[in-house]
Amino acid sequence: MRRSAKHNGSLALQKREVRHTCGCERVLVFWGKMHRQMGARWVLIGSTLLPFMKPQFPQLLESVRQCRLCEKSLPLGPRPVLQVDPRAKILIAGQAPGRRVHETGVPFDDPSGDRLREWMGITKETFYDPTKIAILPMGFCYPGTGKSGDLPPRPECAEAWRQQLLDCLQQLALTLVIGQYAHKWHLPKTHKNLTETVRAWQDYAPSVIPLPHPSPRNNIWLKKNPWFSESLLPTLMKSTQEALIA
Ligand code: SF4
Repeated sequence: MRRSAKHNGSLALQKREVRHTCGCERVLVFWGKMHRQMGARWVLIGSTLLPFMKPQFPQLLESVRQCRLCEKSLPLGPRPVLQVDPRAKILIAGQAPGRRVHETGVPFDDPSGDRLREWMGITKETFYDPTKIAILPMGFCYPGTGKSGDLPPRPECAEAWRQQLLDCLQQLALTLVIGQYAHKWHLPKTHKNLTETVRAWQDYAPSVIPLPHPSPRNNIWLKKNPWFSESLLPTLMKSTQEALIA
């Protein structure tokens, strides 16, 4: 069964594709409205309300990998880059792949990733083990570049996929929330800017830690905010080790 969302929210139109039960290649396609009622999710088909069946994790992941929802807005076309497994203990909620990551298809396979691994105190082997670390940027595909760096993650992406994938991650002990777009989505409350939100990291700890982007572009920010290396990074390393053995 495959489905895709046209809009987010309790009345999102959902496209569902159901294979014919006799095993032939026929596929039934219909659109229904999602409803949430007493914690359950329902689909309204015509005048009939049916329980919404969640796709299994492998089907969901395959649907994400095949996604072309915002392809008209992507200068290099869709190439979702994510790492996810229901057994993951740590979630890295980032921004969106840059051009280099789009080419390799490997998340954080760049100087930002080297710095993030250093901050966490872990090897590449641990970082790229999906049973330990899930990596879900706010937009899974490279959004293009503007005058002052990469464009924001495509908003369609989080609307269509984020909550469904997060629902599959039931073993998480730690979430690292990187950059302003992830801060806005993941944190119950943000402060007046990214610096103040990260400075208030103890409001979210121990299970959630807001971070700036580890990009070399942020070297000046890191120099201006020495408290980040002095007080937040030691906690980040400790929390990472504890989450991995949780
Ligand atoms: S950015 Fe997200 S919504 Fe857009 S094509 Fe890629 S996976 Fe689909």
